[in-house]
Amino acid sequence: MQRGIANILHRDTIAVIVGSKTFERGEACFTAKRVQSVEAARGELRGVVRPNEGGRAPYIVRIWVREEGLAYECTCPIGVTRQFCKHTVAIALAHLENQRIEIERGIGVLREALAAIAPPALIEGLVGLARRDPEMSDTLKRMCLDVLSKQ
Ligand SMILES: [Zn+2]
Repeated sequence: MQRGIANILHRDTIAVIVGSKTFERGEACFTAKRVQSVEAARGELRGVVRPNEGGRAPYIVRIWVREEGLAYECTCPIGVTRQFCKHTVAIALAHLENQRIEIERGIGVLREALAAIAPPALIEGLVGLARRDPEMSDTLKRMCLDVLSKQ
């Protein structure tokens, strides 16, 4: 079974796994824009983090999914012992940020597309969604009540 790494990688989960000190250091590393690249593929994340000190080689980080949970490695002295180092945290945070941006972009496209649809077609589309999904139906009813109460 191939689980996407995004499904188990959350900000809170990372903080719990690594402890607050490493998390804070990783967050500082991410905020300082030291993450040079991060890419997700088939249940793993790979990334490169610029070292703090000049003259050192960039850190190569990998996080992947195992049956027991997450596994990680980094070329820094802590990471080579397969401990969750601050670079691993920084890569994970960079990935989450990329995902957030991608979702926002998708919502932006959806918003434009919805604005371009004539109201009757939009209504038929929403009624179709409500018919297929009772929960969606309730959500739409609540949304209508909410909007109507403000008019
Ligand atoms: Zn490291």
